[in-house]
Amino acid sequence: MEETQGKFILMIQKKGALQMQSKMKALVTHGAHDYRLEEVDRPSAGEGEMIIKVEGCGICAGDLKAFKGGSVFWGDGSAPPYLEVPAIGGHEFVGYIVEMGPGTDKKKTYGIADTDLKVGDRVAVEQIAPCGTCRYCKEGRYHLCVPHNVYGFKNYLNGGFAEYARLTKESLVYKIPEDMPLERALLIEPYACSMHAIDRAAICKDDIVVISGAGCLGLGMITAARKRNPKCLIALDLNEERLKKAKEFGCDITIDPNRESLKDKIMELSDGYGCDVYIEATGHPSSVKQGLDIIRKAGRFIEFSLFLEPVTCDWSVIGDGKELDMYGVSLSYGCFPDTIKGLYTGELMSDGVVSHKFALSDYEAAFEQSGKGTDSVKVVFTFE
Ligand SMILES: [Zn+2]
Ligand SMILES: [Zn+2]
Repeated sequence: MEETQGKFILMIQKKGALQMQSKMKALVTHGAHDYRLEEVDRPSAGEGEMIIKVEGCGICAGDLKAFKGGSVFWGDGSAPPYLEVPAIGGHEFVGYIVEMGPGTDKKKTYGIADTDLKVGDRVAVEQIAPCGTCRYCKEGRYHLCVPHNVYGFKNYLNGGFAEYARLTKESLVYKIPEDMPLERALLIEPYACSMHAIDRAAICKDDIVVISGAGCLGLGMITAARKRNPKCLIALDLNEERLKKAKEFGCDITIDPNRESLKDKIMELSDGYGCDVYIEATGHPSSVKQGLDIIRKAGRFIEFSLFLEPVTCDWSVIGDGKELDMYGVSLSYGCFPDTIKGLYTGELMSDGVVSHKFALSDYEAAFEQSGKGTDSVKVVFTFE
């Protein structure tokens, strides 16, 4: 009897030990240029939290800039860095719920995220986990949350560069259709940001709209803008393949500003006035100057990009020169539901945008590919 009991206890201990030792593969950020593929503890769900088995995760320009040691993330020595290590990167991820903590039905959802979630559901999550208590969160504008905690950049908010991820109680989680191809599902986060830019631009049918930059986000804007039926939709890029995609996704005209005179073309199209809307989505200072040059008086200038360096331009164009309306864009406020629907139905075009898939172990090659603006649009990790 004693012996049996002993065995039983041993078994429980072993079982416990197995659970405790449950590990997962993760790409851990330790510092700029210091990313390591490691076996780490698999997270478990506390109050209001859930664990998802990650299907895949896109590499965002922000992830790439962090990998390359960008000062936006690592600081310039004057303030503590935004990135808190060790952390697991990635915020463009989807997966299946495998574990739920108590109280997940009481999560704050800002009237948009899903509450009726259960184990087995396939879900996407917004990149920001809003605090819920700051002025902006209280106003419902959760994307402007002051602590601004985004997945993949904080050690308590590990992202999708791992086999499992913990969705915190603050997170905004959405069910996605079971039969949605992974290539489309992985575009939900970037395309939701694109859609927010188009919302801010308030495009109407008489507008001549110029979208500068036809990478993943620019293409997301093009397909979202097409649905608003502007008079003329124009894409600018220096890459021929991207311009081809832009045409396919509904642009009326595509222009490579290095090959033809952009200003002449825009003036010709607009009776010499300039474009009504200019959306800056390249992150290059020259694209800002170019926009201020070709936009008409009282036009709407939409700024979307993250710049690696300060932009210098003639600020007086905005006021005395043209009386412009300037709109900034941050994240994807309220855009997840429509983006999920649009990508699922195909109303938002996405064929070929996910251009390269890598296993997590090939992370160096994946980041390198992602940095080659010329022949990659969206590089993703998959765990298939
Ligand atoms: Zn992103
Ligand atoms: Zn907040």
